[in-house]
Amino acid sequence: MQVVSLASGSTGNACLIQTPVGALLVDAGLPQKTILARCARFGTLPEHLLGIIVTHEHGDHTTSAGALAKRYRIPIYTMAATAQKINIPPTVTVHHLDYMHPTLIAGIAIQAMAVSHDAVAPIAVQISHDQITAAIATDLGEWQPILIPFLQAAQLIVIEANHDRERLRLSSYDHSLKLRIASPTGHLDNIQTGALLAQVGQDKQPRDVWLAHLSREANSPEIAVRSIHTVLHMHDCQQYFRTITALPPHDCVAWGPAQRTMQKTLW
Ligand SMILES: [Zn+2]
Ligand SMILES: [Zn+2]
Repeated sequence: MQVVSLASGSTGNACLIQTPVGALLVDAGLPQKTILARCARFGTLPEHLLGIIVTHEHGDHTTSAGALAKRYRIPIYTMAATAQKINIPPTVTVHHLDYMHPTLIAGIAIQAMAVSHDAVAPIAVQISHDQITAAIATDLGEWQPILIPFLQAAQLIVIEANHDRERLRLSSYDHSLKLRIASPTGHLDNIQTGALLAQVGQDKQPRDVWLAHLSREANSPEIAVRSIHTVLHMHDCQQYFRTITALPPHDCVAWGPAQRTMQKTLW
């Protein structure tokens, strides 16, 4: 399995999962043309896409999900309540994900878990194929302990590190937006993400981490990576994280079990 971040942040999110049996998109929050061009760079054509998984209805995750699904007859996999909230053309096949059971797509297993975010049924997802698992949790305002084993199952964790608390306070965002971002149904700050990863690292298994959905104004890749390293160091589990990479908003970053992203990938 190879995972490619096509874009990450409030201006658009999409992640490509490639396996020998076919590919999946997790979210499609970019213009169609951009998604297709970036997929093509990694050898994935629309006919290789077995499905589009939609984590929640916010535009930065869904902009072209319906249109892509319709044009290339790609099914959408999402929670039933989310499907009601997004614009899905009637000809598109929609499969509902389930918290209790994995959904199998050509041998690729998708497991959804509820997260705390201001959407109708926001989810984190685990995607597994041939003994490799990636977990993606990009929008959550707080985390519950049940998320720890969910992430521990993965060799690649894509986890939000949205903002630095002090930078958010000093940012030019209006007061209500600051409150929304920092709320339990908004976005995780670097320290919250670090604390979660410190719990994940207690199993002492080696894994890679991508820090996702960084705020451009209230965070930076350097601050995010440094803050998280500091928290992991305090919990003496830094050594179990092979790489910690801050995802760029508009460049692609690829991961495979044998081909790790380098920590110097900063934007
Ligand atoms: Zn969101
Ligand atoms: Zn988002």
